Amino acid sequence: MLENSSRVRRARLVAAAVIGISAIAAVPRYGWWLLGVFAIAFVPIHSLEARMRRSPRPEYHAAFNILMTQAAIAAAAAVTGGPTSPVLALIVVPTAFAAARFRFRVTIVATVIPIVELLIVTFGLNFHKTLAHPAWLIIAIDVVIGVSAAAQALFGAEVHHRKTAILDPLTGLLNRQGLERRFEELAEQARLMNAPVSVLMCDLDHFKAINDSHGHATGDAVLRDVAYELRKQLRSFELIYRIGGEEFLVVLPGATMPSALALGDNLCEATRHCGSQGLSVTLSVGVATLRGSDVSFRHMFEAADQALYCAKRDGRDRVASAQPAPAPADGGGDEPDQPTGEPARDDLPAPATWAV
Ligand code: GH3
Ligand code: MG
Ligand code: MG
Repeated sequence: MLENSSRVRRARLVAAAVIGISAIAAVPRYGWWLLGVFAIAFVPIHSLEARMRRSPRPEYHAAFNILMTQAAIAAAAAVTGGPTSPVLALIVVPTAFAAARFRFRVTIVATVIPIVELLIVTFGLNFHKTLAHPAWLIIAIDVVIGVSAAAQALFGAEVHHRKTAILDPLTGLLNRQGLERRFEELAEQARLMNAPVSVLMCDLDHFKAINDSHGHATGDAVLRDVAYELRKQLRSFELIYRIGGEEFLVVLPGATMPSALALGDNLCEATRHCGSQGLSVTLSVGVATLRGSDVSFRHMFEAADQALYCAKRDGRDRVASAQPAPAPADGGGDEPDQPTGEPARDDLPAPATWAV
C-alpha cells in the first residue's frame, strides 16, 4: 500500500490541481467558500506521505484522507445544487485513489460510503427535486462504481504480479528475485550505522533420499512444512529466501555472530521436531557475520556456503560458522558495543580474512 501510495503521488497532485482550478473557475458563480472546501479536502494530501512514513499504521492516514476528501466533495455538492450539482460526479476522484491502493474489502467500503453520501446530498436534501432530476445522481453512482472496479482490477493484477514475481509458489517464502538488491540496502544501512549483518545458509540433509523413498509429492510437502517452521522462528524484519531446491538463506540485519549461531540452533531444532509426513528431517546451517562497510553479499554468501559445507562434513544436523582468521598480535581498535547491548565481538575481519 505504501509503495502504491508513492506511485500514485503524481496522479494525486494532477487530480488535486485540476479540481483546484475548477474550484477557482467556479468562484464567480458560487463564491470563495468553495476554495475553502477544496483546501480542507486536498491540502492535507501534501503532507500525507510524510505522515504515513512516520506512522506505525500508515493505512489509517491514507483512509482518513480519502474519507475527508469524499466528505468535502459531498458537502460541496450539497451547497451547489444537491441533486442538480455538477460536483456530484467529482466524488469519483478520491474513490478511485482508494481502489488503486487498497484491497478488495476496503475498496468496497470506500465505494459504498460515497454512494451513501451522494444519496444523502440528493434524496436526503431534496427528495422531489432528485426524483425530477435523477440524471446527475445516476451518472455519479455509475462512474463511482465503474472507475472503482477498473482501478481495483488493475491493483489486483499488480499485487498478483508482485506475489508471483518475488514469492516461491511452493513454500510462500521469498525467492531469489530481489535478494541482492535487498541485501545492498541492508549493507548500506549497516555501513551507516556500523552494524553487523548475519546470513545463515540452510540446507536439508539427505533430502534426495526422501524424494527417492517417498516420492516427489511427499518431498514437496516436507519442503512446505519445514519452510513454515523456519519462518516461525524469525522476527518480522528478518528475511528468509528459498534459494534452491532444499536450500534456504536467512538474512539477519543487526545480528551478531553469537545470536546468529543461536538462531541457527533454533532452526535445526525446529526442523528436527517438525515431524512432517511422519519423517525424520534434519537441517544443516552455515553462518557468516560481517559488520559495517565490510558487509558484502558475495563474501557473506560464499563464507556461509563454506560453513555449511563444514556442517555437512562434520555430520549434518548442526550449525557451523565462518570464523575469522585470528587478529594480528598488535591488532588495535576494539569494536564498539552493539547499540542493543549485545556483547562486542571478535567476528568482524575484512572479508579477505575469512577462514572456515
Ligand atoms: P545433503 O545432505 O548433502 O544436502 O544431501 P541432499 O540429498 O539433501 O542433497 P542433494 O543436492 O543431493 O539433493 C537435493 C534434492 O532435492 C535433489 C532434488 O531432487 C530435490 N529437490 C530439489 N527441488 C525440489 C522440489 O522442489 N521438490 C522436491 N520434492 N524435491 C526437490
Ligand atoms: Mg542442497
Ligand atoms: Mg540437502
